[in-house]
Amino acid sequence: MIRNFTSADYDVIVVGAGIGGIYGVHKLCQMGLSVLGLEAGAGVGGVWYHNRYPGARVDLESADFCYHFSPELFRDWRWTERYASQNELSRYLGHVADRFGVRERFRFNTQVVAAHWIPERHVYAVTTSAGDRVRCRFLVMATGALSLPRKPDFPGLSEFQGQLVLTSRWPDHPVEWAGRRVAVVGTGSSGVQTIPVVAEAAERLYVFQRTPSYSVPVRNGPPDERQWKEICSDVTAARDYLFTLPTATRTAQAERAAADLSEADRIRLMERLWMRGGQGFKAIFSDQGTNKVANDYVAEFVRTKIREIVNDPKIAELLSPRGYPICSPRLCLGSGYYETYNRENVTLIDLRSEPIQQITRTGIETGERLYEVDLIIFALGFEAFTGALDAAGIRNTDGLAPTDQWKRGPRTYLGLTIPGFPNLFTITGAGSPSVLANMFLASEQHIDFVAECIGHMYETGRTTIEPAQEAVRAWTGHAADAAKDLLRLQVDSYLVHVNHDDRDRTLIPYAGGFHHYVQRCRQVVARGYDGFAFG
Ligand code: NAP
Repeated sequence: MIRNFTSADYDVIVVGAGIGGIYGVHKLCQMGLSVLGLEAGAGVGGVWYHNRYPGARVDLESADFCYHFSPELFRDWRWTERYASQNELSRYLGHVADRFGVRERFRFNTQVVAAHWIPERHVYAVTTSAGDRVRCRFLVMATGALSLPRKPDFPGLSEFQGQLVLTSRWPDHPVEWAGRRVAVVGTGSSGVQTIPVVAEAAERLYVFQRTPSYSVPVRNGPPDERQWKEICSDVTAARDYLFTLPTATRTAQAERAAADLSEADRIRLMERLWMRGGQGFKAIFSDQGTNKVANDYVAEFVRTKIREIVNDPKIAELLSPRGYPICSPRLCLGSGYYETYNRENVTLIDLRSEPIQQITRTGIETGERLYEVDLIIFALGFEAFTGALDAAGIRNTDGLAPTDQWKRGPRTYLGLTIPGFPNLFTITGAGSPSVLANMFLASEQHIDFVAECIGHMYETGRTTIEPAQEAVRAWTGHAADAAKDLLRLQVDSYLVHVNHDDRDRTLIPYAGGFHHYVQRCRQVVARGYDGFAFG
């Protein structure tokens, strides 16, 4: 039942209690605004609430991958590992939400199902799955770029008599895999993390792989104490420093192009970074993202490692990614991933030669045979960038959804605002650095921009803000320019929008570098919100 506008109106509704939403609610409340948070899940954490699959772990170092807005918060939380587990990160986000009184501002298990702009009142009328209707002046979509699960749609799925789970919506009750016959479908980052952990205890594990991923060892361990103390001595300076880096992480950037090094030096460098583990592999050579030859050196190095690690040459070949560059879409960080395929209880199924035909009562049937299992884990990824935005049912006065005008790729201004949608802000979405940057710092930067902008509007008596079409055109053109030489633009992945009419390609996140993006946003503010029209 839809209740009328009986609930109080709010200055701001923040949708999503993930990294952006937690900070958003805190920051906007701190400004004295009335803020309501709406979250579909049962608790705080967003993607880090739902992605509690076995082995789930961050792929950026925790000293970077955490909030930096509060020096006290930074100093008070001690990470126990260099790369935090989902469990630790989720506890951290809960701690932050409690510390800043954010949890009380949220309605949980409450999904936004519609949000209509009412021009006469300058409000969004937001309808929730709980039947509430609430009005707000500003709608902040902190729903994340990778949050709405891609659901399996194999024929016969509903016939399966065993248990089905998604890595992206892992149940909050225990899922038993020890001693059971298990299938994992999907070998992206989520699959790469899940597979070794499940293999250790499952009676039998069948891995269904369509496209092999490049995976490098994460080499987790205790956090770097010296670095932590250094950051603690001036957290604000550390935050400012991260804002000057292309991905808002301290991952070293390559200084030299591949061709500037001898073959022996290239191999020495790659060996060193392989042994160090982590994201360093993304930037071994300064031109590996744009020069196919340089990229091939790195890709072939990983294939060599796969051949060294995996005992069976046929399995090694099936696991070897070919025909697409390394780091497109994103590098997977694994722990004993390739080693898992030496286990007697693990079978790799190559879906390119043996596609799934159907799910039966007892398992997964391919063209070759039926694999009988008790548990199927789907690690299929997300309806990236547009999924959660579409699910919220946002409509403007023409009845259009924000993504209706994205047939040729995202049309945004700074990835923060969408033309035709007054007072709507998207946090770390399409058109911004998004998944190409550290989500914590990117969220802080976006929320700070939104907060300052709303503050400016209240101070100057403005009620609406919307990007001008010309500014949207210029930003879209600039973003296209920044991505045009990237090898990852040529590969079909969730990062790339392909226009089906002319195969024109657009990189969905902004690839010009987080540091340049921050500068651009600052310029826009300094020039009196250049490119925005106020009402
Ligand atoms: P993903 O990278 O999109 O991988 C999905 C996997 O499912 C791919 O192997 C894909 O194969 C396969 N797949 C999809 N539909 C299929 C179908 N119908 N039949 C068979 N296979 C199918 O998703 P993800 O692994 O969840 O990772 C997404 C992103 O989330 C990552 O790039 C990363 O940015 C982020 N992530 C981060 C972490 C971390 O921080 N540690 C962990 C997990 C995820 P194809 O490639 O052939 O489509």
